[in-house]
Amino acid sequence: MTHYIPEGLPDRIRHFIDGEFVDSVGGETFDVLDPVSNETYVQAAAGQRADIDLAVAAAKRAFDEGPWPRMLPRQRSRVLHRIADLVEARDARLAELETFDTGLPITQALGQAQRAAENFRFFADLIVAQRDDTYKVPGRQVNYVNRKPIGVAGLITPWNTPFMLESWKLAPALATGNTVVLKPAEFTPLSASLWAEIFREAGVPDGVFNLVNGLGEEAGDALVKHPDVPLISFTGESRTGQIIFGNAAPFLKGLSMELGGKSPAVVFADADLDSALDATVFGVFSLNGERCTAGSRVLVERSIYDDFVARYAERAKNIVVGDPHDPKTEVGALVHPEHYDKVMSYVEIGKTEGRLVAGGGRPDGLETGNYVAPTVFADVSPDARIFQEEIFGPVVAITPFDTDEEALELANNTRYGLAAYIWTNNLKRAHNFAQSVEAGMVWLNSNNVRDLRTPFGGVKASGLGHEGGYRSIDFYTDQQAVHITLNEAHSPRFGAK
Ligand code: NAD
Repeated sequence: MTHYIPEGLPDRIRHFIDGEFVDSVGGETFDVLDPVSNETYVQAAAGQRADIDLAVAAAKRAFDEGPWPRMLPRQRSRVLHRIADLVEARDARLAELETFDTGLPITQALGQAQRAAENFRFFADLIVAQRDDTYKVPGRQVNYVNRKPIGVAGLITPWNTPFMLESWKLAPALATGNTVVLKPAEFTPLSASLWAEIFREAGVPDGVFNLVNGLGEEAGDALVKHPDVPLISFTGESRTGQIIFGNAAPFLKGLSMELGGKSPAVVFADADLDSALDATVFGVFSLNGERCTAGSRVLVERSIYDDFVARYAERAKNIVVGDPHDPKTEVGALVHPEHYDKVMSYVEIGKTEGRLVAGGGRPDGLETGNYVAPTVFADVSPDARIFQEEIFGPVVAITPFDTDEEALELANNTRYGLAAYIWTNNLKRAHNFAQSVEAGMVWLNSNNVRDLRTPFGGVKASGLGHEGGYRSIDFYTDQQAVHITLNEAHSPRFGAK
């Protein structure tokens, strides 16, 4: 296979602080690999505490003295729409770079670039439509909410769909008038630099958007512990979320945590089984299985189990794995050799825990690169590691159930609670199940198609707080209550004679 390398790759990936691309103060760098050759294609600046200090100082200055927090919502909205226009106009280039850096199939990377534009458009619209509460106590008091941006928001993002997930935080943080320091994932820093050029062109003032690349334990840690950063929005593993939660505690920071998942897809015998098959196959193998909301545990009613497993395995075997830049590819290369090793170790564990019915290793003909054949284990018991632990790759566990109660017990039998997918044509069963399943988001007879107005977030080990729609606006703003007396101020007259 020829190795596709995009033209015009940067000679170095730098930070972007106060409107300038800069190297680390101390000159530190780290290697960035592409997942098809696993060779270093560029060095990125490795941010340290000194770089975070500079970025936070620039963001604080832009917040305290600059125009951004003081603009009318309509003015900021126009800038956000220009950002969306620029992202849309560059979607093919964004997808090309994202695919090269992450190994995501190009058609799916393109969809993610377009979703990033949509995130900006959505929040651009939301802030001009924003209204706040006013309450009247007749003849006595009027109370209103004075909504204010909070300050410098620290945004820490993972490597799966990096550009889209960055937009998910950047759009509401900026729409509401905050300034930001973004620390993207170290496996995939390439596309984040494009924000700097896009924001500059769209008219975002210097210092409002700052980007510091680097390792989580260095740049990420310094951002979390910086006293001038009152808010941290984090997406990543549950274990990292726990560490950040602890490190932010002494500062009592505002935290939003979007963490890991091991979501169930439950297929009842009365479902439209063709649709259920399409959705449950797509649900775990799209985005290379590197998807927080992947339906990576498929629970199937026993009366249809054998047939469903056979059809599922057949489909998995036919999935096109290969060059991420080829539009025919359905599953590309996993992001990094370290992650590849982790996923492959679960494939080996699975062989001792379940019945392998598809995949189980490297696909034929792909001798190098982080390729994993779509892998299906059937008859997986709930105490198996591949049933309990997030694999974050193209690996699925299928388990039979006999009754609704058993299906619910299996669905809830993990520490995670991000998404759940339920397939049934029985209306009562669908709603009762949806309301009892421990998941932040439920899809009934649907693949993961999300309305941007709805809450996004997980329960249990999958997260803390909800973003999405006006909940993101709430996270990135303070709602100050202002009370006005309309009549006599009725105060008890302490000390009066
Ligand atoms: P990760 O937790 O390893 O890293 C995420 C980010 O945190 C990176 O930028 C990393 O550098 C940084 N980081 C690491 N240690 C840190 C520390 N001590 N202090 C501050 N920052 C630190 O996650 P990942 O491997 O990049 O991403 C995959 C995980 O993300 C999966 O668990 C997946 O389910 C989860 N995810 C969740 C959602 C969601 O919305 N719930 C969405 C996408 C991904």
